[in-house]
Amino acid sequence: MDGFLLVLSGPTAAGKGTLVKELLKRRDDIVLSISVTTRYKRENEQDSVDYFFKTKEEFQDLIKNNKLLEYANVHGNYYGTPKQFVEEKIKEGKIVLLEIDVQGGSQVRENFEDDALSIFVLPPKKVDIEKRLRHRGTESEENIKTRLETAEKELEQIKYYDYYLINDYVDKATDRLEEIIEEERERRSKL
Ligand code: 5GP
Repeated sequence: MDGFLLVLSGPTAAGKGTLVKELLKRRDDIVLSISVTTRYKRENEQDSVDYFFKTKEEFQDLIKNNKLLEYANVHGNYYGTPKQFVEEKIKEGKIVLLEIDVQGGSQVRENFEDDALSIFVLPPKKVDIEKRLRHRGTESEENIKTRLETAEKELEQIKYYDYYLINDYVDKATDRLEEIIEEERERRSKL
């Protein structure tokens, strides 16, 4: 049986990264799609591990050559999902995890309808978004402002997602995520 796409979106600093790490540690039927981006590389990031870091020209070529499954401009930078990796893994029966923004989420829902499960991840309190963002210490003041404005807009998109998940404690949130995945596997096995 083919696998499916698992889309995780949510406002900046909702703790998606920690959730993803925990989920991947627990399961070998899930693979993470590494995105391509034109954003600057943060000090703690590694090329080809966190992202494939590209120039704008390289990114434009990927679009032109139809190599991206979806892409979007987020906070002034481009981000996209390499198509080939996703298609191969789905055929192998894997669940492919896409940690992407709401614009990308909407493109995936449109193009993959029945083959995508979408989950919106939220921090327990709205003010946590700003707190976590500042605590991370990776962004400039200007950048924090843009990210908070984007977060407000992203929250409006929650209604289009199949599930929302409150990321209060990472273990608890990962347990719930696994339950959702199992429910989806079960549903798909009956189709
Ligand atoms: P960050 O710069 O904090 O790593 O990511 C900023 C935003 O871009 C996050 O909301 C993240 O989910 C989103 N993002 C990362 N990769 C992709 C991608 O391949 N496609 C889209 N549409 N958004 C992405």
